[in-house]
Amino acid sequence: MGSKYSFKNIDIVNFLFLFLTPVAAVVTTYYWVKVDGFHYGQILLGLGFYLLTGISITAGYHRLFAHKAYDAHPLIKLLFLIFGAASFENSALKWCSDHRLHHYKVDTNEDPYNINEGFFYAHMGWVLLKKNGTVNERFAKDFRQDKLTLWQHKYYLPIAVLFGMVLPTFIGGYFLGSYLGGLALGVFARIVMTHHCTFFINSLCHFMGSTPYTDTNTAKDSWIMALLTFGEGYHNFHHYFQTDYRNGIRWFHFDPTKWMIKSLSFTGLAFKLKLTPQEKILAARMQMKVKELKNKFELPEMVLVEVEKLRAQVLEAMNKMHSLKEDYKFNKDKMCSMAMKEVNEKIDSAKEEFEHCMEQWEYLVKNYSLLQAEVGIRN
Ligand SMILES: [Zn+2]
Ligand SMILES: [Zn+2]
Repeated sequence: MGSKYSFKNIDIVNFLFLFLTPVAAVVTTYYWVKVDGFHYGQILLGLGFYLLTGISITAGYHRLFAHKAYDAHPLIKLLFLIFGAASFENSALKWCSDHRLHHYKVDTNEDPYNINEGFFYAHMGWVLLKKNGTVNERFAKDFRQDKLTLWQHKYYLPIAVLFGMVLPTFIGGYFLGSYLGGLALGVFARIVMTHHCTFFINSLCHFMGSTPYTDTNTAKDSWIMALLTFGEGYHNFHHYFQTDYRNGIRWFHFDPTKWMIKSLSFTGLAFKLKLTPQEKILAARMQMKVKELKNKFELPEMVLVEVEKLRAQVLEAMNKMHSLKEDYKFNKDKMCSMAMKEVNEKIDSAKEEFEHCMEQWEYLVKNYSLLQAEVGIRN
């Protein structure tokens, strides 16, 4: 594994924890079934704690605390801090300061989980090294001012042990008849699963998938990864629009973290949900499309001018449509029916204009690719 992982560089506690939890999961599961007998309730207990701790990392540590993509009631914050600690991924203060540095210095030597240092390093190797044990204070200032996150940082270990080990073991024993079963699935197997699914965000999500929004960093979009990471698999979008409360932006994108935040917002427990304006998302996508074309073919100046012209027209038409809609939303109470009808007609024609420009853009991009492919085949 190279000198990077030499004995003097290794954080022995993290090393033992990461390598002994899977062993403990296998051994305790074996003895649980042998001694107390299988009970499906223990599987549900493990899954329940997996969901609770996993979502506390993605919706809590990641989108709420690290990126401030929305705000939440103190009770929700407290629950995220408690069950985030129970995932055994360090305190929110430490986790978030590392993560903010990851965004700020992505793919460089200062990135705590830099993928260019290798897949294993980005996945879990960085956790094993002593040098990553300190807090990046520059990115932790707001946490140092916040009583709740400071409390969790100070008592991280007792909270983690109480809610991540004692509680599941107690539920497994007292309610489901096997303390060993609770320890096997609610604690060890669940910790291993949560760990590696979170680690995938730093390894596989910078390794496999598409780049629809930016190619300036290694972050990728992948629906397969989204299935394993509570929706964090749309990582290319996330690195470009990091304060958006969503990672999967379409309704069908598998992003349970987004669905949970949105559901909480209906009850008032989550609020100030941040959304990236649609024109910014579209602009990024179109910019990548042009880059793709340029990389594939040598675009003649004439085509390039036409592509850029259409791109500007699409964005202008979209802006116009949005500002008309916004105007309507804010002023409709003051409008008479005639004025309302007039504005609605304007919105409809702006929408038509946008769709027309978009169609032309798509036609040009698609047909240019097809044409070039055909020329390529003939040659
Ligand atoms: Zn990343
Ligand atoms: Zn992030």
